[in-house]
Amino acid sequence: MTRTIGALTVDPVFDGTAVIPATRAFAGTTDEQWAPHRRFLDADGNLELSLGGFLVRSGERVVLVDAGVGDGPVGPFVGGRLLESLAAVGVAPADVTDVVFTHLHFDHVGWATRHGEVVFPNATYRCDERDWAHFVGPDPGATRKLEPIADRLEPWSGTGPLLPGIDLLAAAGHTPGSTIVVLSSGTERAMLLGDVVHCPVELLDDEWEGLADVDPDLARRTRIALAKELEGTDVPVAAAHFAGLEFGRLVRAEGRRRWVVD
Ligand SMILES: [Zn+2]
Repeated sequence: MTRTIGALTVDPVFDGTAVIPATRAFAGTTDEQWAPHRRFLDADGNLELSLGGFLVRSGERVVLVDAGVGDGPVGPFVGGRLLESLAAVGVAPADVTDVVFTHLHFDHVGWATRHGEVVFPNATYRCDERDWAHFVGPDPGATRKLEPIADRLEPWSGTGPLLPGIDLLAAAGHTPGSTIVVLSSGTERAMLLGDVVHCPVELLDDEWEGLADVDPDLARRTRIALAKELEGTDVPVAAAHFAGLEFGRLVRAEGRRRWVVD
């Protein structure tokens, strides 16, 4: 569903899903811990992670934030639909002016290239320079996937403005260059959280462990700070794996945090 933030439009762009038992997705959690949070699980206790990204359009720019898993499955991460989803909102690969990666894990860069060919031929590719250094070179899979875009890359360095209506908020921990994308236009604001949070449950309770964090302690501090900030605002947020790529808000009522889908 298209959402507007002032003069910006935002569309979720599905690539696929990953269906994983919740107690395995969040290693060390128990059925008892999940009992109050069944609304985030399916009838069999699985967490269904959406895969894909968000298309942000403003004037001349057509910006894809995260690029899914790519063509074909990687374990339980079954992608393949991103280009169809873009076509469904009227966007061809050549129309994309910028591809912004919240971080460089495989399930966010899948459609950066295909068989070594750049998928978005007119796009400038953008990510935090710390993630590029962490993954490209040291990680063979990421290197294979991302090397072909090296000459189209404009890396950023931490918090700051990126494009009209799009600002970056450094949120290290999940990866060294993990970044929150802040959208703003006029008086309206929204945030794309990348993988700082995989499921809204992580915002409800500070004790929750993250998922696949490169630096779990830092990731947890980042998440706790984010939850504190969000509960005092009315800013809608979405993350790369929230069910249905839906936006929601973190509200505090009667001493407890609640997640309210927009
Ligand atoms: Zn991810």
